[in-house]
This record gives sequence, C-alpha cells and structure tokens, in this order.
Amino acid sequence: MAKRVTILGSTGSIGQSTLSLLCGAEPDEYKIVCLSANTNAKKLARQALEFKPEFVVLGHEGNGGANRGILQDALSGSGIKIGIGREALVEAGAWPADFIMAAIVGAAGLEPTLAAVSQGTTLGLANKECLVSAGALFMEAVAASGTTLLPVDSEHNAIFQVLSRKRPGDVRKLILTASGGPFRTFTDKQLRAVTREQALNHPVWDMGAKISIDSATLMNKGLELIEASYLFDRPSNEIDIIIHPQSIIHSMVEYVDGSVLAQMGSPDMRTPIAYALAWPERMVTDVKTLDFAEVAKLEFFAPDPQKFPALRLARAALEAGGMAPTILNAANEIAVAQFLQGDLAFLHLTKCIETVLEHFQRENSFAKAPQTLEDVLEIDKRARIKANEVANKLVEKP
Ligand code: NDP
Repeated sequence: MAKRVTILGSTGSIGQSTLSLLCGAEPDEYKIVCLSANTNAKKLARQALEFKPEFVVLGHEGNGGANRGILQDALSGSGIKIGIGREALVEAGAWPADFIMAAIVGAAGLEPTLAAVSQGTTLGLANKECLVSAGALFMEAVAASGTTLLPVDSEHNAIFQVLSRKRPGDVRKLILTASGGPFRTFTDKQLRAVTREQALNHPVWDMGAKISIDSATLMNKGLELIEASYLFDRPSNEIDIIIHPQSIIHSMVEYVDGSVLAQMGSPDMRTPIAYALAWPERMVTDVKTLDFAEVAKLEFFAPDPQKFPALRLARAALEAGGMAPTILNAANEIAVAQFLQGDLAFLHLTKCIETVLEHFQRENSFAKAPQTLEDVLEIDKRARIKANEVANKLVEKP
C-alpha cells in the first residue's frame, strides 16, 4: 500500500523540497492526498495538476476571491476537492494520511498541525513555531494521540538520529549548531545598516523569507532552543548552542562518558525531509555526498550574545516558561513581518521583541502557563497587537 502523504505548506521551501523527493520515488510507495498553501493559488494549482491529490486548500481566498478563482478554474473537471480558509486548513490537517509534513510557516500552522496530530499517524515537523508557541500542549497532544513525531528541522533531526531514547539518563547535553547567519562577522556599524536584501541572503541555506530573517538575527537558533527543549524534554541548561559556519555538523549529543555523537551531511534540507518521509527506513536522494577533503576544516565559535541578543531573549523566555515562549514567538513574527515590509530597522527586530516581553513580564503574564489552545491563541493575539504598537513606535522614532 502506498503511504498517503499530506503536505501543509506545499508551496514553500520545505513543501517544494518534499515534493521534489516524492517525484523521484516509486509511484507505488507514496500517494499525495492533500496539499495546502496560503495565497499562492497558481503554484498550488500546478502542484495539484501534477500530483493529483484528493484535496487542496488555500488559507486566503485573496482580494475579491481572486485566488479562489484561479484555483477553481485550473482544477475544474479534475475531481480534486477545493477548500478555502482556516477551517479548511484544519480539515486538511485531519485529512486521512499516513504521513503529514507540517511546513506552514509561523503560528498560523498550529491549528492545522494539531489537527494532523489528532490522526495519531506520523508527523514530519518543520514548523518550529508550533512548538515554541504551544510546546507543552503540543507534546501532550502528540502523546495522547500516539503520533510518531519526526523532527524535520535539520538540527533536531540530527539530534533525533543520534539520541539514545532508551536510556535518556546517559545523555549529558544536546549541542545545537548554528551557521551564524550572514552577519556573523559584521561590526555594530555594519549591523545598523543591514538591508532586507542582505538579510534574506543566507550564506549556506536556501529558505523561506521568515526563517531567513530569523537566521540573520539568530532568533532562529533561539526558537530552535525552545523547540529542542520540548521535543527532547531537556531543560535550558542541558542545551548548548555553538556557531559552526560550515553547517556540516547539524547538531550533536554529548553522553555522560564524554562521547559526542554528531550527525553530518551537506547542508541540504532534503536529507532531514527524506529521513522523515522514509522513517524507519532510508530513502535514496541525490543530495551531494560529503567530500571531507573539500570541506577541509570544521570551525566552531561561541555565539556573541551582545551582538545577537535574540539568543539571550529566547533562553530567558524558555527559562521563564508560562506564556513567555508564546509571547516571544508572536512578537518575533510581527517584527519580522514589519522588517520584511521595509519598515523596521534590522537592530530593532530584537529591540521590539524585548520591549514586548518586558511589557508582559510587568503584567505577570509569564507565570500563567497556557492550559488550552484558546489560551495560546488569546495571548498570541495580545502579543501581536502589542508588538505592532512597539514596532510602529520604533519606526516613528528610531
Ligand atoms: P516558506 O515561507 O517558504 O513557505 C511557507 C508555506 O506556508 C507556504 O506554502 C505558504 O503558502 C504557507 N503559509 C504561509 N502563511 C500561511 C498561513 N497564514 N496560513 C496557511 N499557510 C500559510 O517557509 P519555509 O518552507 O522556509 O518554512 C516552513 C517552516 O519550516 C517554518 O516554520 C520554518 O521555520 C521551518 N523550517 C524551514 C527550513 C527551510 O530550509 N526552509 C529549515 C527548517 C525549518 P504561500 O506560498 O501561499 O504563501
């Protein structure tokens, strides 16, 4: 029987890489049953005509229903069911599938991904914001449904590959590697002048816009720290971060006897995606084989918390617990959106997030851990309103 596959966020970077791997697989191994996008109706329609899923969903119908029209025209007569809007995205998550790739960007992916979790099958998790925003609830839902959760984020996938799950007491710490982003060697003066185009141009990885900006501020590593804490049930002080510009070692696990196990490979997301798709087997890919003589050297540096305060903010949010990670994530999404629109200065990204966190800390919101999805959505909404307010002020009076 072919494995029934859904891709939430199929038009994005992870979604397209997933489809490219499935293109090369034997047709009787995988059947794509459901695809989703937000607004890119043309790309979704092209994918639907090629892969012939049962159901396709757009998050937004577009101005005057323009996106809906494009999709309906392109798929007319195909027999493919079309859904539009948030409820349809949740229906996409719940569409019967053996494997669901969660690759929507941002907390917008939370509800569809939780719907996918409710199936109790296998989830490939790329959407780290789900775990940052609602980590405890998310992991409880995974456990309650019996879902097999396979991390797709390359660092967490690396840890998953080398972590002994049978004997967790043997593990001393997890070591997340970070490329350091495009501005690792920049001076403060250069950082003040960073443009949107520079920030989008990651030296190693080819990714969507939001994660590229997160990588430039190092907030991506901060989000990954929180993601790792929930995924592998480890406190902040058992997770280290090390800058490794070559991005060959994707992360490491240190054991109590001093052994350190690393997973290595070319920096290509198709490897962790293939791992998740084929798990517990392996899939053949045409990812470039590592040539160690060509790589020649592997470098490591301690991260600079002065230059990149995002790491400090994320670690503090993880340690504060309660609603702090949800607030951090929501504020970051707003700050990144404003930066991408060209409004906010690069250094104001983390300034905005820090101000929002301080505001909610004064309200004592950190103390209240979210009990339900509604709690998460409520604080996420409030944090976004506050973040927009703070970002607008920073734009007016830089
Ligand atoms: P992209 O921006 O390239 O793609 C995002 C996908 O989500 C698109 O299909 C987009 O649709 C859809 N989408 C965006 N907003 C919404 C919304 N509000 N509702 C429903 N769907 C939406 O992102 P990436 O593929 O780069 O990243 C996806 C996730 O994977 C992120 O959480 C990221 O952190 C994580 N990740 C990504 C890596 C990478 O290499 N790219 C590496 C590790 C993790 P549309 O095209 O219509 O906008």
